[in-house]
Amino acid sequence: MVQPNSQTLLLLPGDGIGPEVTAEARRVAEIVAPDLALEDGLLGGASYDAHGEPMTAATLARAKECDAILMGAVGGPKWDNVPRDKRPEAGLLGMRKGLDVYANLRPAYCFPALAAASALRTELVEGLDILIVRELTSGVYFGQPKMIETVGGERRAVDTQSYTTGEIRRVAARAFELARGRKRTSGKFPGVLSCEKSNVMETGVLWREEVTRLHKEQYSDVRLDHMLADAAAMHLVKAPKDINVLLADNLFGDILSDEASMLTGSIGMLPSASLGEPGVPGLYEPVHGSAPDIAGKGLANPCAAILSLEMALRWSLNRPEAADRVWKAVDAALSSGARTADLGGNLTTRQMTDAILKHL
Ligand code: NAD
Repeated sequence: MVQPNSQTLLLLPGDGIGPEVTAEARRVAEIVAPDLALEDGLLGGASYDAHGEPMTAATLARAKECDAILMGAVGGPKWDNVPRDKRPEAGLLGMRKGLDVYANLRPAYCFPALAAASALRTELVEGLDILIVRELTSGVYFGQPKMIETVGGERRAVDTQSYTTGEIRRVAARAFELARGRKRTSGKFPGVLSCEKSNVMETGVLWREEVTRLHKEQYSDVRLDHMLADAAAMHLVKAPKDINVLLADNLFGDILSDEASMLTGSIGMLPSASLGEPGVPGLYEPVHGSAPDIAGKGLANPCAAILSLEMALRWSLNRPEAADRVWKAVDAALSSGARTADLGGNLTTRQMTDAILKHL
């Protein structure tokens, strides 16, 4: 029986391995937050199949009323040929835009037990703890015009990169505040490292100017460094531990955070949070996609979904003790040798969660 004043977590499992990993996060939530009301909804291909839309207005309206939303993943070959605005990914973008969750937080944390599983040498990633803050609701994924047209017998494609000062400042403010809370003193870039391409892009020039201005006005106690996004891509594999909080726009943040994910062992380990203004429910989701190649086989690593729940407990539901319990249980399970196939082990999705539950 749901108490009228209790908090609600909306689960949107989505497609492919989404439902498999979200079911495991639900098992964890039922133990660490038994009073939390858990609701289910459809998003992505699952919603398209049921309603002809990848996200219905009713789902978005319900999401806005909940305290937090935990998504699985969307997409898959089944929907490759549906019109672009009906594709599963349109549901995901619609949810992010509809909630206006403009700051995407992607921690790239290397659990000690997984240091040897990284694509880099162990000493480069041992102790790695980067927080990537990616702008999520503007930039080239949303800018207009966006089209493919035929000009003079040739096809021509256009995407538009556009940022306003307000869009830059609000996400930069989040990054500065998060860097303040992380109190790092080591590494070459212990505060915020802001990345753009101000050498060739006007949006990059504006980005650098606005981040610098905001820093001077309100956050001069936090160290600020700038780096071109391509140089940052190199630095991430050369000396990743130099970086504390990395701030980037939607496109560069997408690429740099995927690169950073490979430093930590597996994309199956990486959670994310998308936050808007205070009072807006946070959107939590694994960084990985729907992994059609392993869907339905019980091979998916549930850690990214479980750690996304951990972020929801911490950032939206104000339950830091429960979040700490989840974090420590994942750490302990990994230390005891529990591994799914992506981490070089042979546990199924459910067995990996069992190993985590043992430590709760
Ligand atoms: P993907 O992340 O789904 O898979 C990439 C590789 O990582 C695959 O080999 C997959 O098996 C593996 N992998 C991913 N998650 C894993 C996990 N939890 N455990 C073990 N292995 C895991 O990316 P993709 O293959 O490029 O995309 C597949 C579909 O997912 C596409 O339709 C894409 O559009 C969609 N996608 C959705 C999201 C999202 O919902 N946020 C993000 C990325 C891609």
